[in-house]
Amino acid sequence: MTTARPALAEETSDRNGAPVANGDAATGEAGRITPMMEQYIEIKRANPHYLLFYRMGDFYELFFDDAEVASRALGIMLTKRGKHLGKDIPMCGVPVERADEYLHRLIELGHRVAVCEQLEDPAEAKKRGAKSVVKRDVVRLVTPGTLTEDTLLDATRNNYLAAIARARASADTSLFALAWIDISTGEFRLTECDRAGLGAEVARLEPGEIIVSDALYGDPELGSFLRALPAVTPLARDVFDGATAERRLADYFGVATTEAFGKFSRLELTAAAACVTYVERTQLGKRPPLSPPAREAAGATLQIDAATRANLELMRTLAGERRGSLLAAIDRTVTAAGSRALAQRLAAPLTDPQRIARRLDTVEAFITDAAMRQEVRLALKAAPDLARALARLVVGRGGPRDLAGIRDGLAAAARLADHLAPQATAAAEMAEAQVHLRAPDPALADELTRALADELPLSRRDGGFVRPGCDPALDEVRALRDESRRVIAALQARYAEDTAIRALKIRHNNVLGYFIEVTAQHGDKLMAPPANATFIHRQTLAGQVRFTTTELAELEARIASAADRALKLELEMFDRLAARVNAAAAAIKQAADALAAIDVAAALAQLAVERSYVRPEVVPTLEFVVAGGRHPVVEQALARDAGPFIANDCNLTADEQAGRIWLLTGPNMAGKSTFLRQNALIAVLAQMGSFVPARRARIGIVDRLFSRVGAADDLARGRSTFMVEMVETAAILNQAGSRALVILDEIGRGTATFDGLSIAWATIEHLHDVNRCRALFATHFHELTALAAKLTRLFNATVRVKEWQGEVVFLHEVAAGAADRSYGIQVAKLAGLPAAVIERAKLVLAELEAEDRGSARRLIDDLPLFAAAARPVAQQPAHDTAAEALGAALAALNPDEMSPREALEALYQLKQQAAEKDR
Ligand code: ADP
Repeated sequence: MTTARPALAEETSDRNGAPVANGDAATGEAGRITPMMEQYIEIKRANPHYLLFYRMGDFYELFFDDAEVASRALGIMLTKRGKHLGKDIPMCGVPVERADEYLHRLIELGHRVAVCEQLEDPAEAKKRGAKSVVKRDVVRLVTPGTLTEDTLLDATRNNYLAAIARARASADTSLFALAWIDISTGEFRLTECDRAGLGAEVARLEPGEIIVSDALYGDPELGSFLRALPAVTPLARDVFDGATAERRLADYFGVATTEAFGKFSRLELTAAAACVTYVERTQLGKRPPLSPPAREAAGATLQIDAATRANLELMRTLAGERRGSLLAAIDRTVTAAGSRALAQRLAAPLTDPQRIARRLDTVEAFITDAAMRQEVRLALKAAPDLARALARLVVGRGGPRDLAGIRDGLAAAARLADHLAPQATAAAEMAEAQVHLRAPDPALADELTRALADELPLSRRDGGFVRPGCDPALDEVRALRDESRRVIAALQARYAEDTAIRALKIRHNNVLGYFIEVTAQHGDKLMAPPANATFIHRQTLAGQVRFTTTELAELEARIASAADRALKLELEMFDRLAARVNAAAAAIKQAADALAAIDVAAALAQLAVERSYVRPEVVPTLEFVVAGGRHPVVEQALARDAGPFIANDCNLTADEQAGRIWLLTGPNMAGKSTFLRQNALIAVLAQMGSFVPARRARIGIVDRLFSRVGAADDLARGRSTFMVEMVETAAILNQAGSRALVILDEIGRGTATFDGLSIAWATIEHLHDVNRCRALFATHFHELTALAAKLTRLFNATVRVKEWQGEVVFLHEVAAGAADRSYGIQVAKLAGLPAAVIERAKLVLAELEAEDRGSARRLIDDLPLFAAAARPVAQQPAHDTAAEALGAALAALNPDEMSPREALEALYQLKQQAAEKDR
């Protein structure tokens, strides 16, 4: 029954009934604050944005609002105990041994927790007087971005803390700096970007937590973006103070100036300093090891915005699962660090052909030498998570198993360095990895091997982790503790011999402790000289006399404290070893990174061999040629369900200034989306330094990748399907340059046919004439294929189908040309629509087609082409046409058929149209 808990006003025992300082008790008269509550309130006041885990005996208790929040979030019982100012105090609690589990859930739900411990034994408090409260304070702030525990982290993902700082670049544009760290691995990077870049960077990093200044959080430009992100922490201005930034950063690294790390702008320094300041605050002054901040040059990585990442299902599917994503399909890594590094590379493909070639060389080396690949992968399997073990040890949260992690990791690194064949290290990345693998001093691994036992406890407080034979002093106390019987027996044998009393025994009871016992007849002998110089009389019973000796008393004292001393010596040894690891942190980190890089390369090689991928040529032009390309994920899914994947070619190469646009038509289910995505994924894979699923691929560097699908709802943010589609399309048309690769799937589908067609039409013209990028555009508006007649770099392609006995057969082959029709009715038939509906639809279609014939032709002939329409708005002629358009838009509305939301949206659109007209 939960009522076994003490009332607050009478904190006299913990839940197990063990006594807790009486001093925490108070009379609890209504209206009076107990000393313990006073302490609680003070600590809570100092940490207002955190749920306070207040340690009481074997529980962390939460009070007041915190209790209500936590009991709801964790589904644990809310009780009311004691009174504060005459009112019940809500309370709930979690047992200390299960705290990690509850912390994990709270953090996942976006809460932050302050962990408040008892800093002294309750008995100490008691000594100060009956009224004194056990000393307590917060020892750690747990926030989503500053976790180090394996139990709280996903081993296969980085967990970033990111800071955003902003400066005005001009009256209406801002410049942003983004700094991010992973304190569980020490990675620390920063970059500057514009507003669109910021969105893409945040989408790439998916930080576990983002910190911003209060001001930025409340800012109209950024506020709504920030509030839509999962874990954003607004902080007081001083954390983002530019004037003190460089000093705070230098302090963290213990250097005089940060110039040695590179030249950073004030804005970058501000973001970077915010990160370290926040880390120090949450770790209560401890400084986990971070690599010095390294700038990611703007444009060094392929920019991919959030919608594109989601849509291409790079890291997870649209349903939010890892399974079915590109990452899951290509991940053949065998270590957690390798898996994190792979995810990182996939999230941030490169844009420098040389760096890409460097990675590809390593992958190729592992393909060429299959034996080395197998050996290396085998050796890697034994390698523990070096980076995270290191980080925990340095923040003082490590245990014996982390030391073992370092030991085994270093051993694995050394072994691995030997496995890298000399000819393979012709690859520059491989050679560098080999140097890094050998960086840590082998003496450290040896020392750890000598010091650590075979079986290790989780916590160092449990003791027993130091190998016997390693420390003579420890061996002795342990011998006393563990072998006290043997030591006593030896002593007994010696006394028996010295006194010639064979029946002499050493016994133990709770009153006397250890004592020597002889029969009454021998007692006299021991009480007489010379024995009485050694034996001290303790007790005479009917048949026995009991003695002790100085030696036995000492032995007893030593036995009693042996366990304590053993633990103390072990903890000293732990600290020594942890300090050694700490001193070697930089080299260990390098080795850890090298292990991860080797794992990634060997895994990508394994993938390439398994699935017949080829090395892509990555070039600094606008070419894009894929021969025999396949979709990396669909291909694997099909392989399981039988049926071959049909490989297809794609060529978006046009000239030196611009790319080609493929307009892809074909019925639903033909394979249009698959084809579009596979080409985008091949570009991503190539630029991350992976081989690609194709017969041949030559990819001109892509600097930004966009992918949009018509009719994707974003109900969570309250925007209609069509609105989302248009907002996203607008982003592409406004941002894509000639190096971009754009994938548009069924844009314009979310509205009436003619609206949709017109928008798709104008979009293609804009892509062709203004963006001039490489693009793939799938549509079921065949009318659009007529555009190829005017747009020289537009190419019509279709996914072929065959009609056979009134049924449509999908060939999944992409060929030049246009689909002759939609086959929508055939597909509907396949889906099982009732025969009567199918027949009726055929009739209606025939009617519609008869009316519609030739309309696209007319459009091509009559419409002034894009050059005219694309003139800046200000130059556009005329209020009259604008007014006409407005009138037409009004006339097109049918209020009776609109939902209130649609009506409101329409009203906004009309207002905007009217505003543009008046400009
Ligand atoms: P669309 O976008 O034209 O409606 P999808 O790209 O969604 O069609 O493809 C429909 C299904 O056809 C896919 O789920 C896949 O199983 C199969 N498919 C697509 N492309 C191929 C291909 N090249 N080879 C084999 N099967 C394919």
